[in-house]
Amino acid sequence: MPEMRKNLLTDNWVIMAPERAKRPHSHISLDVGHLHAEHHHECHFCYGNEHETPEEVLAYGRKTNIANSPGWELRVVSNRFPAVDMEKQFSENFIQPLEVSSYAEGRAEVIIETPHHSKNMAFYNLNEMERVLNAYKERYIAISQEKHIKYVIIFKNYGKKAGASISHPHSQIIGIPIIPPVVKQELSLAKKYYKDKKKCIYCDMINRQLMEKSRVVLENEEFICFMPYAARSPFETWILPKFHSDSFEFMDNLQIKKLAEILKAVLYKIHEATDNAPYNYFIHTSPVKTDTAEYYHWHVELVPRTTTHAGFELGTGIYINISTPEENAKLLKSIKLS
Ligand SMILES: [Zn+2]
Ligand SMILES: [Zn+2]
Ligand SMILES: [Zn+2]
Repeated sequence: MPEMRKNLLTDNWVIMAPERAKRPHSHISLDVGHLHAEHHHECHFCYGNEHETPEEVLAYGRKTNIANSPGWELRVVSNRFPAVDMEKQFSENFIQPLEVSSYAEGRAEVIIETPHHSKNMAFYNLNEMERVLNAYKERYIAISQEKHIKYVIIFKNYGKKAGASISHPHSQIIGIPIIPPVVKQELSLAKKYYKDKKKCIYCDMINRQLMEKSRVVLENEEFICFMPYAARSPFETWILPKFHSDSFEFMDNLQIKKLAEILKAVLYKIHEATDNAPYNYFIHTSPVKTDTAEYYHWHVELVPRTTTHAGFELGTGIYINISTPEENAKLLKSIKLS
């Protein structure tokens, strides 16, 4: 039973999910010989093994209407080893004066992005990338409508070092009953900036980046991709809509197309620049049913894992970046798109 416990010294929750230790660590495609395999018979996410996953909640591209059968182009299933689930409700229980816990309520799903066992997202075509983003949006909307869900986070772990336990290309989406501290901090600073200047801090940041240019990697009509001024680690990259919007799920079809274009290009450039480094990306958007329209601005943060954060970072929350975003942006800009 997933449980959440609160650290009363920091006010942050921790999810205790020992059953996740039973997850398969099937890095099949990373084994020599399977590096480019399109299909692996033991992989639960490959064609023909649909019955090995929990029931699907969404599938794109299947010509028949037989659920959980082959023929799909993208599938979304519940996470078999969820850190949270919907069996019981979130409610803070004071077990002891210093021990606060709750049932870890929430919804955890896996987006199986392609039937191709070892296709690297950096080499997806535009249709494949758009399909993934459409699935993000569709499942985001569904999960955010569930009772008690306050925040929905979409993320991808690519590579073992970035926390992926299965190598078949996938992303995750998790709805939780609290607003995560990182988002709370972003919201509170953006709100303060708006109160002082009557402007969105993210919009101002975009304008500054466009004027200054040295950290901009690429842009199109709708999106900009740049390295933040205070990047935490080499090649940390953000993607933001150029139009002001606090919520990811309001994107229309054209905007999804434009985001797919940017994400595809930047993943390719990072792949080339870092020699296929593991990475995480996640979408920060407004909490569910919260009015942040004036001051918040949704965005994607992409963090390649080229270095390991250690004692200093853990102990202080201060990151040491062994490079600068200006030099990294210059390198990424010089990489030609194939
Ligand atoms: Zn597979
Ligand atoms: Zn804005
Ligand atoms: Zn953020």
